[in-house]
Amino acid sequence: MGENLNLFTSTQHVINDALGKLGYSEEVFELLKEPMRMLTVRIPVRMDDGKIKVFTGYRAQHNDAVGPTKGGVRFHPEVDEEEVKALSMWMSLKCGIVDLPYGGGKGGIICDPRTMSFTELEKLSRGYVRAISQIVGPTKDIPAPDVYTNSQIMAWMMDEYSRLRENDSPGFITGKPLVLGGSQGREKATAQGVTICIEEAAKKKGIDIKGARVVIQGFGNAGSFLAKFMHDAGAKVIAISDAHGALHDPKGLDIDYLLDRRDSFGTVTTLFENTISNKELLELDCDILVPAAISNQITEDNAQNIKASIVVEAANGPTTFEATKILSERDILLVPDVLASAGGVTVSYFEWVQNNQGYYWTEEEVNEKLHKKLVEAFNNVYDTAANRRVNMRLAAYMVGARKMAEASRFRGWV
Ligand code: GLU
Repeated sequence: MGENLNLFTSTQHVINDALGKLGYSEEVFELLKEPMRMLTVRIPVRMDDGKIKVFTGYRAQHNDAVGPTKGGVRFHPEVDEEEVKALSMWMSLKCGIVDLPYGGGKGGIICDPRTMSFTELEKLSRGYVRAISQIVGPTKDIPAPDVYTNSQIMAWMMDEYSRLRENDSPGFITGKPLVLGGSQGREKATAQGVTICIEEAAKKKGIDIKGARVVIQGFGNAGSFLAKFMHDAGAKVIAISDAHGALHDPKGLDIDYLLDRRDSFGTVTTLFENTISNKELLELDCDILVPAAISNQITEDNAQNIKASIVVEAANGPTTFEATKILSERDILLVPDVLASAGGVTVSYFEWVQNNQGYYWTEEEVNEKLHKKLVEAFNNVYDTAANRRVNMRLAAYMVGARKMAEASRFRGWV
C-alpha cells in the first residue's frame, strides 16, 4: 500500500532529522532506520464452515538496546509490512518520550475481525502466539492490544503462551482482563493520556476546557473514552465519527447516549440519518480536534482548512509529514501521536511491573503515576520545540530517539 510506504519513509526522514539535530552520526541512523527484526508468519485456522483459511501475520521489533521491545498487535484487513514496521518505530519513540525501559515492537494480522466468530478469533490469536513464540516473552518482547484487539484476545494469547512455556506468564502480554493480572486504568489509559495532553496544550494556548468545542474522529477505545472525559470536564463535544460517517451538533452531542449505543467496534453513526462525512468533520469550526481513528487523515489537501487551534493525535499517524509543516506554519499547536497516544503503553508498563512484583495498585495510584509521566513528557517535548525552534513532531522524535541512541552507543553497537 503506497500510503503505508509513505508513512514508513517519512518516519525515517524525521528520525534522521532528529538524530542530526542531536548530533548523532550517520551510523546511528543506519542502526535505527529499520526494525532490527521482522518476522512474517502464516497461520492456518479451521473456520466455522470447516474450511482452512491461512492468515498472514507480522511481528516487528525495532530496537532492544534500552530493554525488551513492547507494542500492540492489530487485527485489520489493511495491515501490511510497511505499516507494522513504522508502528514499531513509533513505539520506540513513545517509550523514549515517556521514559519507559523498553524499545518498540508491533504486530499485526491481516484479517477482518468484524466478520469472524469468537471461536475463529480465539484460534487465530492462539495460532499467532504459537507462530511468534520464539521471539517474544516477558523479558524479550511484550505484546498488547491495538486496533480491533481487546482484553479477551490478550487473555487467549497469554493462556497459549503460558501453556507453551508450562509456566504461568502474566508478564508476557499487557492489556489483560483484571482477573488475569490486568491493571486498573489500562482500558482508559490511552484516552487519559490524550486528555492530559489536551489539558497541557490548552494551558499553553490560553483555552479554557470548560466550554471548549471539541471534535473527535473515531469512537473506538481511545475516541469514546476521550469523548466521555471531555464531556465530564465541561467541554462541548460537537462532533464524533466512526468508519461509516460522523455526527455533528454545534450545541454538543449527548455522549452518554452514544456510548450506550456503540458496538464493540465503535460503530454508532449507522443509527442516525443526518450524518456528515469524516472529511467534513475534520474541517469543522472548533477549538480542539482529535483524530483518534486511522492514519493519513490530515494531508496537504485539507491541512489549510483545519480550523482548530489545537490538534491532538490520539491515533497513530493521522497527519502526514507535509500536513505537519502546514499546521505548524499556521501556528496550530499539534501534539504528535508519539506523545499524545503514549498513555496506553505507559499503563501497560505499570501492568508489567505489577505482574513482575505480584502486587497490584489502585486505580488512583495508576492514574497519579500516569499523570506525572505524561505532564513531564509533554513539557519536555514542548520546551524542546521552543528551545530548538522545531515543530512538536520533530521535538518529540528528538526526545524519543535520544535514549535508544545513547543505549545503543553504551552497548557498543555504534
Ligand atoms: N497499541 C498501543 C500503542 O500503540 C499500546 C501498546 C502497549 O500497550 O504496549 O501505543
